Amino acid sequence: MSSDCLFCQLVSEGDHVRKGEGFVAINDINPQAETHLLVLPERHVPTFREISEFSDDEAKRMLEFVAETAREQGLEDYRVVVNVGEGGGQTVFHLHWHVLGGRMGGLPG
Ligand code: AMP
Ligand code: ZN
Repeated sequence: MSSDCLFCQLVSEGDHVRKGEGFVAINDINPQAETHLLVLPERHVPTFREISEFSDDEAKRMLEFVAETAREQGLEDYRVVVNVGEGGGQTVFHLHWHVLGGRMGGLPG
């Protein structure tokens, strides 16, 4: 846990739409689509660049958690977006997966 990280704080005390072993889903505070969730690993990993810090099993379970979160929200068609680095639109440096479904605005970030 990184004490100055917003998403570490939300992992420990946020309003979770869904919680799994090692991952949580929350509603995005500024939705860019009818449904806009964020899936966060509980562990602080800053960006997608560090994906290798997850074990094969964790990485697979994280992706399954993303898919299950979408399914549970009743989404069949949707977008999964990861912004990587400032130039990629990332503003919170704790890895997260945007899940966007329904009527879309622009891409997040
Ligand atoms: P990114 O730009 O990819 O780093 O995405 C960060 C996302 O976090 C943005 O879509 C924000 O709207 C969202 N966000 C920022 N603060 C909060 C918060 N307190 N609760 C939920 N979502 C947030
Ligand atoms: Zn964090």
